[in-house]
Amino acid sequence: MIVNYLDVAMADHSATHGFGNDVSPDALKRQIELVRSVNEQLDGIEVLVGTETNILPDGSPDYDDELLEQLDWVVGSVHTSFGMSSAEMTKRIVTAMEHPWIDCIGHLTGRKIEKRKPYELDVRAVFEAAARTGTMVEINSAPDRRDLHDVHARAAASLGVTIIINTDAHGVSTQHNSIWGIATARRAGFEAKDIANALPWKDFKGLGKHGAAQRA
Ligand SMILES: [Zn+2]
Repeated sequence: MIVNYLDVAMADHSATHGFGNDVSPDALKRQIELVRSVNEQLDGIEVLVGTETNILPDGSPDYDDELLEQLDWVVGSVHTSFGMSSAEMTKRIVTAMEHPWIDCIGHLTGRKIEKRKPYELDVRAVFEAAARTGTMVEINSAPDRRDLHDVHARAAASLGVTIIINTDAHGVSTQHNSIWGIATARRAGFEAKDIANALPWKDFKGLGKHGAAQRA
């Protein structure tokens, strides 16, 4: 879930991995309709409907392109096959960045503090691809992820990549995890103006591939 000043985006896990809510394509279509109808009833707040889609080993997402197009916001994340070589993993993520509807890459290096090392990856090549394709990268706020870390986040921004802070909340009780993402962003030297979802809606809505194509 990402939280903007007046806006919120709901993005459950996709269905191929067996964790989270395992939202099937049909369930996601119903969610799109639900959020659209909620939006019509709300004034002064925009609710976005999105997903965290798995990036498969070949770099493709695990939903069809036509379904991804209908969403407002798509995070692509690696949740499987962590043991690829650096060249393979870099190609996988760059391929995902070249996808027309993946707006953002989630928890880029996959590290879990004290549990799992980051996977092998040419981070600079990935950031260059992010800048070239207009794909954002997130600072993930989960306390054991905090990925991007501050040095990577700074490096990405210096190459022209747009940074976003994602709560990675899996429910209301973990939304406050955003304090850890904000702390990481501050360590990287960012101010609110440097973070996509700290911008006013009028500035945020043109960002990302969906923003550029559908909302700007
Ligand atoms: Zn994830």
